[in-house]
Amino acid sequence: MTKPLTILLASPRGFCAGVDRAIQIVENALEKWQPPVYVRHEIVHNKHVVSYLRERGAVFVDELDECPADRPVIFSAHGVPKSVFAEAKHRNLIYVDATCPLVVKVHVEAERLYKSGKEILLIGHANHPEVIGTLGQLPQDSIQLIETVDDARRCNPSNPLNLAVLTQTTLSVDDTAEIIKVLKNRFPTIILPHKEDICYATTNRQIAVKAIANQTDLFLVLGTKTSSNSQRLAEVAKKAGASNAMLIDDVTHIDWALFDQVKTLGLTAGASAPESLLSEVLNECRRRFSVKLEEIESAKENMTFKLPQIFNSVVS
Ligand code: SF4
Repeated sequence: MTKPLTILLASPRGFCAGVDRAIQIVENALEKWQPPVYVRHEIVHNKHVVSYLRERGAVFVDELDECPADRPVIFSAHGVPKSVFAEAKHRNLIYVDATCPLVVKVHVEAERLYKSGKEILLIGHANHPEVIGTLGQLPQDSIQLIETVDDARRCNPSNPLNLAVLTQTTLSVDDTAEIIKVLKNRFPTIILPHKEDICYATTNRQIAVKAIANQTDLFLVLGTKTSSNSQRLAEVAKKAGASNAMLIDDVTHIDWALFDQVKTLGLTAGASAPESLLSEVLNECRRRFSVKLEEIESAKENMTFKLPQIFNSVVS
């Protein structure tokens, strides 16, 4: 008899509105201008999405100087420093900005706080493109980066009575709350975001994982290792009680030997991982086990973002 396996499927999961918009921007650009269309940085952090767009004619580059002057270039969903816009303008490039509107919101806030004379602390991960983009909205060294609770304990702002804090959009909600608690204790007048800048999609996907993690022997998160929100989901699953949790790119990365000990599997996908990858995992599980599937919905999402106006003529 086939071994029984209960699968708890987290909901919401997978593509967020910002990722969906960024992918549509590249697809529309390919239709409007024909290939090749250049994309500065991976449009979203998922290797399957990147391969799919590459096959259709997108060329991914690290820097603008790799883009020829006569081809359009897209800036990724994570956002870019202001210097990138300046360079594109200087070279007269056709460019389209696919920065998620929720990241743009953080950029606008950084500028507003800076203009009002605040000293800004940014909670985030060094070298993540979103953090590089946010730091690059203001003159160099205007923002101090806080990565950990220890950083929050040790930071030494020059003007402790005039501080404000911003956060990367894809952090762990709980870890960020800890860091903010330390900052608030040390600097009681610090200005916090109205709502943390952590976006709705990151928050909802973490809540959905937490709702089921402690019932699972193994939690699989579909997503690429460079994806911050996907990494956080695997961490959240472990912290919330899953016996084991793993981030995997697709079904081929599953170590089926682990399933000898698994009665209940948790399953989700990061905000940049296509649902088709999750379906492949479900299909393979159904082939190997007698599956009982339960979807646990923790929130409903209906967020959508408009495409840039430049595509009005190609989008129906
Ligand atoms: Fe935007 Fe959040 Fe999606 Fe990032 S994870 S693209 S901030 S909605």
